[in-house]
Amino acid sequence: MFTKITRVAAMVGCALAAGTALAAYPEKPITVVVPFAAGGPTDVVARTLSQAMGTQLKGSLIVENAGGAGGTIGAGKVARAAGDGYTLLFHHIGMSTAPSLYRKLDFKPLDDFIPIGAVVDVPMTLIAKPQTTQTNAKDLLAYIRANKEKINLANAGVGSASHLCGLLLQSAMKTDLTTVPFSGTGPAMTALLGGNVDIMCDQTTNTTGQIKGGKVKAFAVTSKNKLANFPDLPPLASELPGFEVGVWHILYAPKNTPADVVAKLQSALQAAIKDPMFAAKMKELGAEIMSADRQTSAGAKTLLAAEISKWAPIIQAAKVYAD
Ligand code: ASP
Repeated sequence: MFTKITRVAAMVGCALAAGTALAAYPEKPITVVVPFAAGGPTDVVARTLSQAMGTQLKGSLIVENAGGAGGTIGAGKVARAAGDGYTLLFHHIGMSTAPSLYRKLDFKPLDDFIPIGAVVDVPMTLIAKPQTTQTNAKDLLAYIRANKEKINLANAGVGSASHLCGLLLQSAMKTDLTTVPFSGTGPAMTALLGGNVDIMCDQTTNTTGQIKGGKVKAFAVTSKNKLANFPDLPPLASELPGFEVGVWHILYAPKNTPADVVAKLQSALQAAIKDPMFAAKMKELGAEIMSADRQTSAGAKTLLAAEISKWAPIIQAAKVYAD
């Protein structure tokens, strides 16, 4: 009897200790790895989300940029990090294309991470350097076809959204272009503004300010329909039927992260998405908030799995690989 009571007391003690540990989480800053350069489209969303989640968690989330190889370097880094809730990954659609694009990948998207929740879906824009003389998508595409040896298409490396969009563009146009990879479209945008590369497909979270400020020429959006932020830009599908790309983003923890920590992060993510500061910034940048069912660990995992299956045959057909 006495032993039983002692055992029960010990169990209650453990539960309380675990509860206290979770209540204390986070006890130190959480690192959010962005697998692209600072100042780009993923970075801006990650920083805004980190700020809003920090308010919810009464702690701080610090963004660390680990760009290169289309996002696979940063993702691999988080796959090997401790699952203690203090290292997270904020990544996009590239998580689903990398397994088909890379012959050697040092992480498994579905096995090495626990999705916390999906956050936003970001449309892309087809933009060109300021010196471009064409004024509409039809003329730009005709110019690209006629000058394919001269045109440089910038991207953020094999596996990035700009790479995927560029692949689809070249395939839809049946035209091969020279591609120039950067560690993110932040630096690629600097090159475009300087006229050092010719065209780029990039997310509205990086291009809105430049387009509205008249710094780059914009020709089309990659969403099915026109975007409220750019009523003058046609969907690229009006020239290239069926063309559509949306760049979804998920926050991940490494595998082995305790379930209660994941649950706490999931609640913080859901509340952060409703934060008026976050919502206003996403609206300004043309990012669409994910539906509530995808703002969950299970919903985000379903999305990731479905996207891996969706892109595999498309990439296999395009015969594009990286080592
Ligand atoms: N998301 C990348 C970045 O933040 C760009 C891309 O994927 O094309 O730079």
